[in-house]
Amino acid sequence: MTTITDRYTRAQSQIIDACQNCNRQPQSVTLLAVSKTKPINDIQALYDIGHRQFGENYVQEGVEKVQALAKLDIDWHFIGPIQSNKTALVAQHFDWVQTIDRMKIAQRLNNQRPAELGPLNVLIQVNISQEATKSGVALESVDALAEEIAQLPNLRLRGLMAIPAAAQTLEQQTQEYQAMQSALSRLQSQYPSIDTLSIGMSGDMTQAIANGSTMVRIGTAIFGAREQKG
Ligand SMILES: *Cc1c(COP(=O)(O)O)cnc(C)c1O
Repeated sequence: MTTITDRYTRAQSQIIDACQNCNRQPQSVTLLAVSKTKPINDIQALYDIGHRQFGENYVQEGVEKVQALAKLDIDWHFIGPIQSNKTALVAQHFDWVQTIDRMKIAQRLNNQRPAELGPLNVLIQVNISQEATKSGVALESVDALAEEIAQLPNLRLRGLMAIPAAAQTLEQQTQEYQAMQSALSRLQSQYPSIDTLSIGMSGDMTQAIANGSTMVRIGTAIFGAREQKG
């Protein structure tokens, strides 16, 4: 039987191979284990073998897991869409938010972040494939939003995140990764806190790493297929 820890080890090897193929240090890529819809025991199993970074998409489910595992030393990333009536919960329970795409949400997270937790790490989500149904700002709007976020004392702008469209040619996908990479370099030259490019999931982690990803968000390849959330 293939266990979660077997699949985790396999995902780690895939990251190491991808790094070696493009002369990068394996430590330059963080594996974020996306545990949405999966039970707490699955998170505990990875924690027990030393994994510390987990991502959740749904506020209520995520908060329940954060609270149930409050004794563990986990970096919790919020990676789903945020409605403004949920920002307080996110600001109180998570260490990172990867899906900032408008100032209103950034403002609220900034105002609601408890001082004792220190600044909330945030990424701007870019709608890189320009899909009507997907959240994220247009690439052209990144610099303006970054400038405003950088002024909020309780947020720390760490970089950019994207979910490229699934059905595209390799060439198109590569173009999009590269556009993300140059947007990140541009920001890096202005803000010292920028160090994170969150691109790559179970199906495209190798290509994302070849194009500068510093954080891959892996769900299915570790935890197995998810049931559709109704
Ligand atoms: C679900 C999800 C993932 C993980 O996707 P897999 O294909 O299962 O690896 C990564 N990022 C975001 C934003 C997600 O919603």
